[in-house]
Amino acid sequence: MRVFTETAPFGPARVPSGVRGAIMRGAMRVLVIEDEERLARLISRVFREEGYAVEAETNGRAALRRALSGDFDLLVVDWMLPELSGVQIVKRLRAAEVETPALMLTARDQIEDRVEGLDAGADDYLPKPFAFPELLARARALTRRKADGGGGGSKGAPDRAVLEAGDVTLDPVRHVVRRGGEAVDLTAKEFALLATLLQRPGQVFTRSVLLDTVWGGSSDVYTNVVDLYVSYLRKKLDRQSRGEPSRIRTVRGVGYTFEPRPAERR
Ligand code: CA
Repeated sequence: MRVFTETAPFGPARVPSGVRGAIMRGAMRVLVIEDEERLARLISRVFREEGYAVEAETNGRAALRRALSGDFDLLVVDWMLPELSGVQIVKRLRAAEVETPALMLTARDQIEDRVEGLDAGADDYLPKPFAFPELLARARALTRRKADGGGGGSKGAPDRAVLEAGDVTLDPVRHVVRRGGEAVDLTAKEFALLATLLQRPGQVFTRSVLLDTVWGGSSDVYTNVVDLYVSYLRKKLDRQSRGEPSRIRTVRGVGYTFEPRPAERR
C-alpha cells in the first residue's frame, strides 16, 4: 500500500494529526487507484479536504487485494494500470461479491470503453481530464446511494453539487454555467478552471495549483496557458461593456481568485 502525504493543501492550516485522526473516525473511506502519482496525490488531497479518509494504490494487483477487503465506501479506479486494469479489478471484485461503488476514470472518452466499464460492474464513469468538483459530486452521489441502501437515493445530488458565487452558478454534473440566470457556453478546460476557482471563492489559487488541477500537471503545457484560459473565461463571463471589474481578479505575482461580489470592491 502506498499512502501519499502532501505538504501544500489548498487551505491555510493543517489540522494536527491527532485531531485529524479523531475527525476521520466515521469518515467515508475511499481507495484511490491511480498509477499517475501526481494525479493520485491531487485526487487524494481533494478527497481528504472534503473529509474522506483516503488511501491510495498505484498497482492494479495490489489495489485488488486491498479492495477485496470490502473496507471502503468508494473506489476511484483508473482504467489503465500496471498488472491489472481498472476493468479487471472491478470485474473480479463483483465476482467476489464485493459491491463497493466504483467510479472509473479513463483518458479515453469513447462510448465502447464506457459500456465495457459499466458492464464490468463500475457504477459511474468519468473521462479525463475532469473537474475535481465533478469528481466529488459523483463520489457523493455514489456513496449516498450506498448509504440509502439502494437506487432511489440520488434525488438531492445535483442541487447539492452546484457551486455558486454571487450570480454565477456552475453545475458540475449537468455541465452548465449560468451568470444571472443566463447560460454561459464554456469549453471543457474553461469549465474545469472556473469550477476550481468557484470551489473556494475569494481564495487565491497560484498558477501552478491551477495548472495541476485543471491540466493535471502535464509537462507539455506552460503556466501561461493558465493566463490564456483566464482571459477566455473573462471574455465569456464578465460584463466589461458595463464597466464592471472582472470576476476573476489577478493577484500580482501569485495567481487568481474569483470574486463573488466585484461590485462591492474597488
Ligand atoms: Ca493510468
